Amino acid sequence: MKFGGTSVASIERIRNVAQHVKREVDAGHEVAVVVSAMSGKTNELVGWAAEASPLHDAREYDAVVASGEQVTSGLLAIALQAVGIQARSWQGWQIPIRTSDAHGAARILEIDGGEIIKRFAERKEVAVVSGFQGVSKDTGRITTLGRGGSDTSAVAIAAAIRADRCDIYTDVDGVYTTDPRVVPKAKRLEKVAFEEMLELASQGAKVLQVRSVELGMVHNVRVFVRSSFDKPEDIDAHANHPPGTLICSEEEIVEQQVVTGIAFSKDEAQISVRQVQDKPGVAAAIFGPLAEANINVDMIVQNVSEDGATTDLTFTVPAADYMRAKETITKAKDAIGYTRLDTATDVAKVSVIGIGMRSHAGVAAQAFKALSARNINIRAITTSEIKFSLLIDAAYTELAVRTLHTLYGLDA
Ligand code: ADP
Ligand code: ASP
Ligand code: MG
Repeated sequence: MKFGGTSVASIERIRNVAQHVKREVDAGHEVAVVVSAMSGKTNELVGWAAEASPLHDAREYDAVVASGEQVTSGLLAIALQAVGIQARSWQGWQIPIRTSDAHGAARILEIDGGEIIKRFAERKEVAVVSGFQGVSKDTGRITTLGRGGSDTSAVAIAAAIRADRCDIYTDVDGVYTTDPRVVPKAKRLEKVAFEEMLELASQGAKVLQVRSVELGMVHNVRVFVRSSFDKPEDIDAHANHPPGTLICSEEEIVEQQVVTGIAFSKDEAQISVRQVQDKPGVAAAIFGPLAEANINVDMIVQNVSEDGATTDLTFTVPAADYMRAKETITKAKDAIGYTRLDTATDVAKVSVIGIGMRSHAGVAAQAFKALSARNINIRAITTSEIKFSLLIDAAYTELAVRTLHTLYGLDA
């Protein structure tokens, strides 16, 4: 059972979480719990680190931002004990959750779930594990798994203790066709295939961290997204189908729609390199230095300029990397050989996702038509087997998402 930030935002909410856990334990289930920091806490901690020094040591950043989860795991253990459930808190290093030493974005390498299983078996002691954090296998220092990383902690723990299911309790009662806060007509999905969830999450649906979906897929952990706001006393712990969304393998899904969902992200920036030579090696000259700087390039579009000898090349990077990307390309100007850089930061990427696209033609073409009818200009397009993404002006994000949501018959 994993509880996100809003679910543990206050002592009262933590008591509510304790009731959810108690319900499952009383019903005879063996459970382990993973918690996030109180909502807003991690942002505050990140802000403090930046205030102390804008360019800070990543190891100390992790020491600071991991603390939010230490508080909530202890508090939940106390709240559980108060309602008669044996419980013990565990920090990442105590389990230990061994990770790489990529501070701020560490990868989980190994978890020994033995102690958690043993303590539950011997004395029904529930482990309350701090999400988001681990310990570097090499240096023994505290690491964090990237924003939203508690989901990943939860799926990894579930795999380590061979859990039947990993329940992600959050502030919505499942995965919707798009962010229900933006499109009130969004529908809850019964089941979503791992592959689709992977695309939804990586294209901006922050309901699950991308890594958690990857882990679920690799270790075949059934992930169930549900709400901690459903009253603990109204839920039958033995019912097979409480409200929520199951993330599972494709074979389990009987009725497959062409389009499953729409994700969007405003954390995008566009860089256009004007009039580069149209010859071999130019793309390498542009993207080599970006890769060396560890900047993830997403969409890439290359046009042929009118003169035929030169071409324009447009790509996108995460907004957080925009300044560095621009600097990198400017520094490499002589090696690349271009006349001008045009950039835009007020852009958004809207992605349409569905396994059904594999076997249906013309799905994207419908979108182009619908958006043009709304006068929304498309700056760049990428497609893959089960997804296409469109780069547009950020101001039109909501309009575009709603238009496409209606177009593909997703409205409730
Ligand atoms: P937690 O703190 O529990 O981890 P998050 O804020 O990380 O919660 O994730 C839940 C939020 O994800 C929801 O409040 C919702 O606004 C957002 N969200 C974005 N896309 C979707 C989607 N397709 N389905 C459900 N929620 C979504
Ligand atoms: N507290 C961390 C964050 O806000 C991890 C999480 O909530 O999943 O990113
Ligand atoms: Mg989250």
